[in-house]
Amino acid sequence: MKRLGLLGGMSWESSVLYEQLINRGVRDRLGGVHSADLLVRSYDFAAIEELQATGEWERAGDLLADDARMLEAAGCEVIGLCTNTMHLLADRIESAVDARFVHLADATAEAVTAADIGSVALLGTRYTMEHDFYAGRLRDHGLRVLVPDEPDRTTVHDVIYGELVQGVVDDGSRRRYLAIIDRLAERGAEGVIAGCTEIELLVGPDDVALPYFPTTQIHAAALVDAVLAP
Ligand code: GLU
Repeated sequence: MKRLGLLGGMSWESSVLYEQLINRGVRDRLGGVHSADLLVRSYDFAAIEELQATGEWERAGDLLADDARMLEAAGCEVIGLCTNTMHLLADRIESAVDARFVHLADATAEAVTAADIGSVALLGTRYTMEHDFYAGRLRDHGLRVLVPDEPDRTTVHDVIYGELVQGVVDDGSRRRYLAIIDRLAERGAEGVIAGCTEIELLVGPDDVALPYFPTTQIHAAALVDAVLAP
């Protein structure tokens, strides 16, 4: 089994889920008392959120690339970035290390296309919904991507930063998300990507009539595959 390095804490509310899913995945595959060989670089999310809000992506990229190198120097052969949003900087990280970087949007696109879905809704932070790094990557896999209109994008974004990353899971916010998903279905979405690692803490597959793609679960499974690959 290869050693895995996680760039996490963005936020830790979802990184703990990553760790749990990855350890369970390794145990299910190898049996007995096996668990993942894992290092986590967990940030103070307040510092990351400030870099995002002030648009200091260059500095954020330096930070993530440096820490990816640190994980590699500590023996990690596979690296995962535990946030959809910061995949805006995936190229910076990937080019900083020789370790295999498992891209969250590729793993997600593969899950969506395997389900035979062509048009998919994308919910996430404003950065994920409005920049092209994520939807563009999905389109490279042949998918049509729909994001919410305003003011729904603001609602989705504000619930993530104002509630979910702070550990608040609110029934009213779940209802608002489900109404937004209904509007995306009316516009032709055949499936929904929970394109923020905390959204699945609020909305699960049983809440949604359409096929649902929770990115923490999908990415964690892809990371397990990568560390167990020969
Ligand atoms: N975890 C979130 C995501 O998957 C949002 C927090 C962040 O901005 O990194 O996008």
